Amino acid sequence: MERTFLMVKPDGVQRGLIGEIVSRFEKKGFKLVNAKLIQVDRSLAESHYAELSDKPFFGELVDFITSSPVFGMVWEGENVITTARAMMGATNPSAAAPGTIRNDYAISVGMNIIHGSDSPENAEREIGLWFGGEALSYDKAINKWI
Ligand code: GDP
Ligand code: MG
Repeated sequence: MERTFLMVKPDGVQRGLIGEIVSRFEKKGFKLVNAKLIQVDRSLAESHYAELSDKPFFGELVDFITSSPVFGMVWEGENVITTARAMMGATNPSAAAPGTIRNDYAISVGMNIIHGSDSPENAEREIGLWFGGEALSYDKAINKWI
């Protein structure tokens, strides 16, 4: 079963949106298999966003992610990587479709509430980086109805 790494960024934690965001993925039918509140250090932030290290906003991005705790999660389910990205909406909230998390709660690209892995390779890399690859395996009785 596919797994992805999702993270409520510092703006989402500060604004009290952890519960709202967890709730959306629970109601969708995905299964939460790991989660923790983390005060990110620069080295973790730089590793996580390594692919963006050449971008002009990289320093600002690392400053932001390390500015206040984030809530990291591992979610499991069929096509969860692509579906979670769709539920998040486009990177820039002004281009995100109505009803998506970024359209509903964010205005600026720098503070867009949530991160989600963009490919199976990055999901595995990020679950390794943030959780040492660890996640629970358990059954939910409701799963046969989803
Ligand atoms: P994502 O996968 O949709 O989160 O987008 P990317 O992987 O391309 O970028 C990672 C994060 O960098 C985004 O979620 C934004 O918060 C941030 N970011 C992207 N573009 C910009 C930009 O032009 N300016 C700033 N300040 N941040 C940006
Ligand atoms: Mg990305």
